[in-house]
Amino acid sequence: MTSDSPRAQLIHIETDRRLGHEWDEWDGKPLPGNGDFSAPPGVFLRYAGLTLALVAAGAAALIFVLAPRLAAVAAVLPSGLWLALAVATALAWLWFAVLLLSFYGKVLPLPEGWLERGPYLRLMSLTSHVARAFGKRDWVEHAAIDVYNTLAERRRRRVGKGELLVLIPRCLSKQALDGVLAIAGRYEVPVFVATRGQLARRVIRERRPRAVVAVACERDMMTGLRDVAGKLPVLGLTMRLPNGPCRDAMLDLETMERWVQSLVGAGA
Ligand code: SF4
Repeated sequence: MTSDSPRAQLIHIETDRRLGHEWDEWDGKPLPGNGDFSAPPGVFLRYAGLTLALVAAGAAALIFVLAPRLAAVAAVLPSGLWLALAVATALAWLWFAVLLLSFYGKVLPLPEGWLERGPYLRLMSLTSHVARAFGKRDWVEHAAIDVYNTLAERRRRRVGKGELLVLIPRCLSKQALDGVLAIAGRYEVPVFVATRGQLARRVIRERRPRAVVAVACERDMMTGLRDVAGKLPVLGLTMRLPNGPCRDAMLDLETMERWVQSLVGAGA
């Protein structure tokens, strides 16, 4: 495109940026940190602790408000509910302590279905809602996905080349796309461009992979992990968005290659 045809170039830019619905409220301004939402794991873990405390406080407030009515139905109901809440809260904090031990202590006392592919996915979603209220959504989600990936990587899963699926979004820069295709070619793994989460789920249903390496922004990755990671092992690579959402996304190709290599073994 030459400089004497600015109009055609502008049209290209507009059609190229089809926003994912996660970015509906984007105001067109550059994203903070040039679209790099890297944040240390502690950012998520602090918000997750706050989320657990808020859920317990919310449940306690509900019981407190409803107690007189519940007592009218059955006298033991309020005390029974208080006891159930105390037990549930104690178990939740115990589980959270195991999560911290697993992440920082590098031991995995719980199977994946009880940790990163189980309650952790629900905690991630809830924490994301709390973080939104504080305007920290993308950073907290980034840290949450990092913690998830660290735990998932430590499971040292291995699958055959035909059993791994690489899912990429439509917004990768040419450089990132070339890099992904080169890695996929080296390790002989199929790559699919999933334009929407729905399509990604359909590809997974049809191809029936035994593991997935997915690439997406933090917002899309949260939905994807919540919907898929409980059923299928997923490693989720987040991106940098230097030109705003849904266009020219960059990613860490070294991490992608490390993941693909650890899942399917040495390249061809
Ligand atoms: S993955 Fe890319 S296209 Fe999808 S919502 Fe995120 S930035 Fe937009």
